[in-house]
Amino acid sequence: MGKSKKIEIEEDVLVKIKKLKVNYELRYGYLKILSEYIKRFPKEHRAVRKDSVIGTDGTPKDDWVRTISEAKIGEIIAFLIDNKIQFVFENITSDVIDRLRNEYVERQRRISNVIKLKAEQLDITNDDYSFMKIMPYDYQKKAVKFFEINNGIAILGDQPGVGKTAPAFAYAVKHQLKTLVICPASLKLMWRKEIMKFTNEKAFVYKFNPKKKSKIIAFSKEESLFHITNYEAIESYIKLEYKHKCSGKNLVTNQKCDWEEVNLTKTFKKCPICGNQGSVKSRIDGLVSFQDNFGCDIDPQNYDLIIIDECHRLKELKTTWTKIIHKAFSGIPKKLLLSGTVIKSRPFEFFSALNFVMPEEWKNSHEFGVRYGAGFQSNYGWVYDGASNLEELFTRVSPYFLRRLKKDVLKELPPKTYLEIPIELDDKDYSEYKKIEKETIKQIVDGKEVEKELTYLSKIHKLKLFTGKIKTKKIKEIIQDIIDGGEKVVIVSDYMELAQEIIDLFPDISVLHTGAMSELEKQNSVDRFQEDDTIKIFSGMIIASGVGITLTAASKLIKLGFAWTPADEEQVEDRIHRASSTSDTIEIITPYCIDTIDEDIMDLLNDKSYIVSKTLDNQEYKKQAVKTDESIYKELVNRIKQR
Ligand SMILES: [Zn+2]
Repeated sequence: MGKSKKIEIEEDVLVKIKKLKVNYELRYGYLKILSEYIKRFPKEHRAVRKDSVIGTDGTPKDDWVRTISEAKIGEIIAFLIDNKIQFVFENITSDVIDRLRNEYVERQRRISNVIKLKAEQLDITNDDYSFMKIMPYDYQKKAVKFFEINNGIAILGDQPGVGKTAPAFAYAVKHQLKTLVICPASLKLMWRKEIMKFTNEKAFVYKFNPKKKSKIIAFSKEESLFHITNYEAIESYIKLEYKHKCSGKNLVTNQKCDWEEVNLTKTFKKCPICGNQGSVKSRIDGLVSFQDNFGCDIDPQNYDLIIIDECHRLKELKTTWTKIIHKAFSGIPKKLLLSGTVIKSRPFEFFSALNFVMPEEWKNSHEFGVRYGAGFQSNYGWVYDGASNLEELFTRVSPYFLRRLKKDVLKELPPKTYLEIPIELDDKDYSEYKKIEKETIKQIVDGKEVEKELTYLSKIHKLKLFTGKIKTKKIKEIIQDIIDGGEKVVIVSDYMELAQEIIDLFPDISVLHTGAMSELEKQNSVDRFQEDDTIKIFSGMIIASGVGITLTAASKLIKLGFAWTPADEEQVEDRIHRASSTSDTIEIITPYCIDTIDEDIMDLLNDKSYIVSKTLDNQEYKKQAVKTDESIYKELVNRIKQR
């Protein structure tokens, strides 16, 4: 209880509102309906204390004082007005009051709109998508609509396989928003490719430097509506700056040290001046911007929109990139976050994303952890890795969170969707690749013209194995994201070595399946993948995985290698998707190294599937496919020779 103070109480004014440094203070004797109303706010938005005051008649009485957050004060004002409760402001002007109230009313209007539209399935009948080269699916247009009514501040949480990138860039193009895309490193070129495949816009990729003979053109920042970078790279463009202060005493003179400095060092174990251990306190002070070798920097002020792909990577609040992204980019006016990871199991991992899109609404990670992460205090500190009050959480995020399951959009999706992921070789890998290529060309040129395709093939094995190894390394994070999204994946290779490497990367959750194994061992792998919930990855060989086995537990297929005929490709795809069943859709992901043999093979195979898709009769298609097979090796060898 506070000290008694003399406060003038005007009899006709019930509620006094005062602006504090950050929050607002509400002072009123006792008003049941207002107290009940405030109690409904989440705890991080309210606090209460009781003061004893002396009224105008000279007698002491209780006075309840409530502290209300900036995010909720507009709501309070609207409530007071709607309920005809008299109030007075002690230190703010009427235009500020109007602004706060209007902001709140506007927000409410938007929320009720969203909820209404969510219920009515978002009407897109009059929306014009003629600016797209390829028409998005209706459910993707609905996501764009959802972004529009939310003013570009939203989280798209569709289940993996539903396709979250297209709505995000379609929204940016539709409104011509200069956009920064942050995504995993392995997906940078995929974003670029998809944007340019679906729209007429160009995309600039940070730190992307195509090789001399590359078919890929690097566009400048100026001509590109989209600028793409990855999480790790941000740390080289923008760094955290720390302020250090020493509270120690000089050991010799016994004088206070008081050393102070601002620099990029995170912490000092001991003071560089007085030499005391642990006497330096360090805290984040600001950000410093840097240029890369091409003279490019990332200036947050340039962007109207930020898209953060696989945004659950922000979940660790202590990670440097999370801190930088929060500090540098939260001022960008429009923010779209994408993630297929489910919130249900660990709501706390979602806090960072919510705080980024709506910092006034989601401000205190501890309060959030206690309420929604079933927080409790252990011997080592607070733990928030449970789940609690989920229904309330979903109600609160619902206005700006959209999640559709695959089964909701199944009718619109073709049974198989294809995604190609271009991968860039770094300089060291590329020069090594070029060395092998040179040797291969020499062998081919020296060889006899009559050599059959198998001999040709053996010569290009080395190149394929090399790119295969690069791809295996680079898709690790893609595989992890699929698993985090609760899905199972089949990965097929054309080399045993690569199939084994996948197992080594994910030893506890994968099974191997190769021609070298016994029938019993192979069947065991298939059964475990199909039936055991802890097994998420099936790592097999393209040929061995082609026939007679069922892998329908998977919703994704990653092709690390290539089958040489469309028939073989289909065989593998149909292990996880059976044409007879229309109940599911699968995504087929093909990573490939740009400026390498992978690109040539893709070109040729894509040509072939064109022929295949035009042929309805199965026999006919097999005949055609074989015809093309013969030329595919020759054509491939020709292409390599020409390099
Ligand atoms: Zn010192």
